Parts: sequence; C-alpha cells; structure tokens
Amino acid sequence: MSLPSEVDVAIIGAGAAGLGAARALENSGLSVILLEARDRVGGRGHTIMAAPNITFDLGCGWLHSADKNSFVEIAQQLNFEIDKTRPPWREQAYDEAFPLKERVDFTEALDAFYDRVEEAARKIAKSGRDSAASAYLEPGNRWNPMIDAISTYVNGCELDQVSILDTEAYEDTEINWRVRQGYGALMTAYGAPCPLAFSCNVTLIDHSGKRVRIETSLGALTASKVIVTVPTNLMADESIRFHPALQAKVDAARGLPLGLADKVMLALDEAEVLPKDGNLRGATMRTKMGTYHLRPFGQPCIEGYFGGSFARELEDAGNGALAAQSIDEIVAFLGNDFRRKLKPLSESRWAHDPFARGSYSHALPGHAGARAVLAAPVDGRLFFAGEATSPNFFSTAHGARDSGERAAGEAIAKKRAQS
Ligand SMILES: Cc1cc2nc3c(=O)[nH]c(=O)nc-3n(C[C@H](O)[C@H](O)[C@H](O)COP(=O)(O)OP(=O)(O)OC[C@H]3O[C@@H](n4cnc5c(N)ncnc54)[C@H](O)[C@@H]3O)c2cc1C
Repeated sequence: MSLPSEVDVAIIGAGAAGLGAARALENSGLSVILLEARDRVGGRGHTIMAAPNITFDLGCGWLHSADKNSFVEIAQQLNFEIDKTRPPWREQAYDEAFPLKERVDFTEALDAFYDRVEEAARKIAKSGRDSAASAYLEPGNRWNPMIDAISTYVNGCELDQVSILDTEAYEDTEINWRVRQGYGALMTAYGAPCPLAFSCNVTLIDHSGKRVRIETSLGALTASKVIVTVPTNLMADESIRFHPALQAKVDAARGLPLGLADKVMLALDEAEVLPKDGNLRGATMRTKMGTYHLRPFGQPCIEGYFGGSFARELEDAGNGALAAQSIDEIVAFLGNDFRRKLKPLSESRWAHDPFARGSYSHALPGHAGARAVLAAPVDGRLFFAGEATSPNFFSTAHGARDSGERAAGEAIAKKRAQS
C-alpha cells in the first residue's frame, strides 16, 4: 500500500500491539494505517520454516497464561491448531546430565528463592522501595548461578537488573500452550486484513502543530492521532524522535530495557532416540548455559534457548556461535555420537535486529512504575502500546496485543469526547 498524505489514526509498528490496535479500529469508521519498518508483520513474533518439515518461531512461541491469552480465541477463529502438551521446563529427559536428586534439590532452591522475592515485594509494595531480585539469593547457595540462568531465560537478563516489584506484578497462570503452525504465522493471519505500509521507517513524530506530522523513510503524512508501539530500546535510543521531545517517555523506556533471549534450531538425525517434547539441561552450575527443547511437536530437531549476557556474547561472536555452543553442550550431555547427528539450521539475533534491539522488557530495580508512565496518553493525540506498557502481561505477545486494543480504545474515546 502506498503512503496516504493524511489519516485519522497512524499506528507505528505492526507487531502484536500494532495489529491489536488496527484490528480494534477496523469498524470505527476512521481511516487507519499501520506504518511498519520491516517488510513483514509480527515484529518479535516471526515463524520460519527452518527446514521443509521444521517450523521455527524465532521469537515468541508459547501462549503463556493460555486461559487468559487473547491469542487463543484468535487462533481458534482462524483455525490454527493449538498444542496443549505441557512444557517440559521443570522435568529433564536425561538423568545423566541432571540427576533426579540434584533436580529436586535445585527446584526446591528455585522455589524458595521465588517465595522470598514474593514476600519481599509484598512487604515493600506500600513503601514503593524497590530492590534487585539478586538481593534475595541465599548467600553461598550452590544453585545461585543456575537460578540466575533461569532469570536470563525468563527476564532476558541476570537478577541484579530485575525489579522485584515488577516481578510481582507479572501474571502467570502457568498454563502454557503452543500454536502448531507457529505464533508468528498466527500473527500474520491475524494482521491480514490490516491496511499496511511496509519498509516504512518512522523517524520523527512532530506533534507541535494542529495535526501530528510523521516523517518516514517513504515520505511524510499527517494524522489526527498516533499510536506508538515500537520496542523500548528504540524509544530509549531516540531512534524514533518526538517534537516537542517527550523526555518522560524516553526516561520510562530507559527504565524498561529489552533483555536478550535468543533461539537456535538444530536438525537431528535419527531423532527417535530422543523423547518428543523433552527438555535437556545440565547441572552445569553456571549462569552461562543453554536450555534445550528436544523434538518440539515431535519434529526431528532440537531448539536451544539462551538469555542474558551469555546470549549477547554469543550474538557478538557472529552468526553460527549459538549453534556451535549448543552442539558442544549437547554432546557433553549425551555423548560424542551426537556431533554427527546435529546440523545447524537457523538462529535468532534479536540484539542485532535494528527494529527490536533485544527480546523483551524488564523493569530495572526502582523502575516498576515506568510501565504506567510509558502507557499514558499525551495530549489526547499520542497513545502508547507494546508489551512494555502492559501492567501484568508485559514481555509477552498477548500482553502486547491487549495493549494495542487498549490504546485504540483510548484513541476512540478521545475522538468521541471531542466530537
Ligand atoms: C526469543 C524470544 C522469545 C519469546 N518468547 C515468547 C513466548 O514464548 N511467549 C510470549 O508471549 N512472548 C514471547 N516473546 C515476547 C514477544 O515476542 C513480544 O513481547 C511481543 O511480540 C512484542 O510485541 P510488540 O508489538 O510490543 O513489539 P514488536 O513485536 O517488536 O513490534 C513493534 C514493531 O515496530 C516496528 N518498528 C520498530 N521501529 C519502527 C519505526 N521506527 N518505524 C516503523 N516501525 C517500527 C518493528 O519492526 C516491529 O514490527 C519472545 C520474544 C523473543 C525475542
């Protein structure tokens, strides 16, 4: 679609939040356009076929809190198959790598840590005096490095960068399902009816005049209202600028940086020797370690997951580093025979992606309140959505989608109030 010169509502970014906003406005009678820098929708939701028989979600894969996840109903409406196999995160496929007795010990230490964080967050909720989750690790506990590794998967960063008030605000019903054809593929189908301008990189939002003027790589347009959904790291770096400047938004975004999580997909020969939908992780006693999903959906492959500073190190080492690290770790757990059975297929590089610059947001200690600041409308004309603005489902795809719907509602409400 070519760029119109003016619209009622311009939505910046066609990830889950932007699509949620656009779909919510489709019967509003308003002219709407989604301005998307990439040549595809979905943003951090992106499914590829890593091989003809291997579906790979480079970004989101799990329908977290599935009983409250708005993408579940969308998947059902669009005839996307939902897989309800329980995630294998707590169990392990092989006793050799992580013996049962050790696993029980680790799980107890992990649960006790979460209990301490929860109790501390409740105590300080009234005073608002936040602290870093790392303060609640038991000094000298041998499992601390692995508890930190779990944080790198969950938060995309180590515990010293995680606010306990934010952790406490996150809602997790512990029901996790998957979309068989891919979460990114579902977003593509969900976004199909939306009016879109692709390869349209927005650089400036000028809200000094009567109408909002938007400068993009495809030219300029004006809008009555704008919904901004870009990831926090782009707001924090001011790669998208506002005139007059919105310092409160930049500061809020800086308190909510995107952590890093990366995935790698390896093809597996003679796959039947490994259990379907198993998990593999070693008692490595390190924070720098991957976790492996064996044969997801029964496919002939292993999916590796890395987070935090280790993921950053591997990304910085160049394409192929995640795969090489994964193969070395898996071989160390399962034996040398596996080296010839594994072949790198694909890996994500979210930190190096110019339109994401990371994976999902976490609040730095002292910044849990930044989510509400980021979400607040400005001047009845600028509205903000995206996973980082969700009060309880931040860092997730459904939280992002719901936030888009919320921002669209705010934009319509303002219009009604004005007319
Ligand atoms: C490895 C990984 C695993 C994950 N796993 C899960 C999971 O299992 N479950 C889950 O729920 N969530 C998961 N997530 C998180 C989830 O993917 C995100 O929270 C969600 O997709 C974010 O949606 P969004 O719309 O807020 O942002 P985005 O998807 O980032 O959308 C923003 C859009 O804005 C565009 N954009 C950026 N700058 C500009 C600009 N200047 N001009 C125009 N367009 C611009 C981008 O290209 C992008 O399309 C995962 C993420 C990653 C990376």
